[in-house]
Amino acid sequence: MHAAGDVRVEDVPDASIKAPTDALVRVTRSCICGSDLWPYKSHAGEAMRMGHEFIGVVEDVGAEVSTIKAGDVVVAPFVSSDGSCTFCREGLQTSCRQVAFWGSADVDGGQGEAVRVPHADGTLVVLPVPEDDALMPGLLTLSDVFSTGHHAAVSARVGPGRSVAVVGDGAVGLCGVMAAKRLGAEQIILLGRHTDRTDLGREFGATDVVAVRGKEAVTAVRELTGGDGVHCVLECVGEEASFLTASKIVRAGGAIGRVGVPQFEALAGARPSFLRNVTISGGIAPARAYIEELLPDVLDGSLQPGRVFDRTISLEETPEGYRAMADREAIKVMIA
Ligand SMILES: [Zn+2]
Repeated sequence: MHAAGDVRVEDVPDASIKAPTDALVRVTRSCICGSDLWPYKSHAGEAMRMGHEFIGVVEDVGAEVSTIKAGDVVVAPFVSSDGSCTFCREGLQTSCRQVAFWGSADVDGGQGEAVRVPHADGTLVVLPVPEDDALMPGLLTLSDVFSTGHHAAVSARVGPGRSVAVVGDGAVGLCGVMAAKRLGAEQIILLGRHTDRTDLGREFGATDVVAVRGKEAVTAVRELTGGDGVHCVLECVGEEASFLTASKIVRAGGAIGRVGVPQFEALAGARPSFLRNVTISGGIAPARAYIEELLPDVLDGSLQPGRVFDRTISLEETPEGYRAMADREAIKVMIA
């Protein structure tokens, strides 16, 4: 990405093994994330290599890699982690002492042909399927959006019998609906204004859809919950207005799990949330911590988060994929 709105497919040096803990992965599927749209709107400065969600086939591994071997089909979470430091052992791999973000200085982007994966043993998860398996779209969501939706649900303390609201009808919000249902939520209210997306949200488990914003949305959610608001809010947008809505639809004693990358500095509503004992939780999702837990439900077909992909393009068409997502023509674009 050279600048806002300027994505190009260019040749870069071939990915290769540099450290004995690396793996070289040939990318077979990747995708464009809603969070890629923030720089697509505003990026200035040096060009960045993009893409943090991918599945691929291991071509080679360094001498110290022990659990991953050439030929393995693997999914990568959206950051790499060593799997062994104190934070990794606590399930917070995004705070790994050796964390690396795909596309950063010395690390290849996932929207490309191949990637050098640092700390392959800690980072990659082997998938027990062939590289062209029909489940690939769903498996690819474990890289980020489904794991992130699940993190929002866990952070918002979703559980059996709870009422839930999901703010945002992008791929993460839709996956959040699915995750909330999986965790036993009784009522799931999806806040979104795009009918094609909210229709899919209903199929994923939303019991109600609120298609208005701001004060009207707050009123609608309160009416749907006997006036109190919901136990759990999954904030899947990251704008100040969406966080304010979240803080006004959560009931006293409830929790907000925020996973939308904040596009603002300060969280508003400190006093009302204090007076109502609202827990504000969430953050960047440690996808690596959740992949093994979510994988069986995707493998056996009981959950189909891959339905968030409504367009598939070639690597060469990646700039057009960004445009389609930015213009809301596509929910989520797969590169295959
Ligand atoms: Zn670590």
